[in-house]
Amino acid sequence: MKKTQLNLSVSRNAYEIVSQLQDNGYEAYIVGGAIRDLLLGRTPKDFDISTSATPEEVRGVFGRRHARIIGKRFRLVHVYMNGELFEVSTFRQAPDAEEQENRKQGKLADLPEHLIVSDNSFGSAEEDVWRRDFTVNALFYNPVNCEILDYTEYGVDDINNGIVRAIGNPTLRFEEDPVRMLRALKLVAQYDFTVESETENALFQQMHLIQCAAPSRLSLELEKILQSIYSDRHFEVFHDYGLLKYFLPEIDAHWGSGHIEYMLDMLYERNCRVDEGEYRSSISIALAIIAIPFLERAYGREPGQLWDKDQDTNDLISEVVSGATAPHNMMVRMRMSAEKILQILPELVFGAVSKRHQLMQNRSYPHAREIGVIHSCVTRKSSSEFEAVWPFRSEAAFSGRNRNSSHKKKRQ
Ligand code: ATP
Ligand code: MG
Repeated sequence: MKKTQLNLSVSRNAYEIVSQLQDNGYEAYIVGGAIRDLLLGRTPKDFDISTSATPEEVRGVFGRRHARIIGKRFRLVHVYMNGELFEVSTFRQAPDAEEQENRKQGKLADLPEHLIVSDNSFGSAEEDVWRRDFTVNALFYNPVNCEILDYTEYGVDDINNGIVRAIGNPTLRFEEDPVRMLRALKLVAQYDFTVESETENALFQQMHLIQCAAPSRLSLELEKILQSIYSDRHFEVFHDYGLLKYFLPEIDAHWGSGHIEYMLDMLYERNCRVDEGEYRSSISIALAIIAIPFLERAYGREPGQLWDKDQDTNDLISEVVSGATAPHNMMVRMRMSAEKILQILPELVFGAVSKRHQLMQNRSYPHAREIGVIHSCVTRKSSSEFEAVWPFRSEAAFSGRNRNSSHKKKRQ
């Protein structure tokens, strides 16, 4: 194991949780993506904590009011520190004993041999590292003594060199959990990392297994992608690697068409605007943007032309919003919100000025207006005309300064 002494600027509340666990005699570290992001000079999305304390012991340290045990497949504790939420998980072993038993009894007969279906036997810090996915995601940081523990011995170097390397045998690791292939390519899209050759070979061979992953986990990954400011890059990288046809077959089927290009331009514009702090990221906006090319195609319209505002489109919109991201089931709330945006979008873009007052009162107005702005930027290179007609209506849940300017790469 390699150790590095470094003073990383971690959240005060995460520090507090780690130090209270340590004061109670447990090992505790900040782990995973947060340490990777700090070493890359980025602001972490969240701080995950790993500890030797069992979920019940964690609850014992912070009390029932501040610590709630959640999860079935993977039990962990939600700890609230000064109102901020953190995930605290107990060190795990690589899962095998329980699973081998289930396989012997034929309970998992239809699943690929190594697919992991439960992940709940506790272990040591070192064991916990070996069950993680990539070396760059497996660093443990003790903020109390400012020490980074790099058990794989590749983690820090791989972050510095931008390399995605599976921990252990990549073929086996992808077979155990095919979602890891998606996660590998997310690192490529997000950080411009390259995949180490053995890991890359395994990825090409095992890619089709993505269809065996639990649908709920794939939908969750898709939600995270749509929430992120890298969605256009994610789709491009997934396509370049050949993963898109398994993950989002409808988008893959039309890849290269003017409609998909227009959709990627819109997503890129949306992502820049979120990154520049124009408004908070909204999955519904991304979802609505993804559905637009499919609606245009259904109405025989060219990319960027949208559809007739007087057309009765509600049933078709609902069908297209679900179909564009098939086979994944997005949360109903998000789907409905995207549908409502699309229902009023053409009225804004084609200037239904007589209904201006009514439209501006519509709950979906802020989101539909935002897509109108993006649409104008992409199709007309300027949104000032549109914005003059449709003013910004501030809404606490929507607007916000969100400055984490890492989204600098231009779409070619
Ligand atoms: P993000 O910035 O997107 O949150 P992350 O790496 O923190 O990135 P999480 O989904 O929050 O991603 O996972 C936290 C950590 O858990 C990862 O860094 C990794 O060490 C481990 N992990 C997550 N998913 C898997 C998986 N499918 N297989 C093995 N380890 C995983
Ligand atoms: Mg994370």
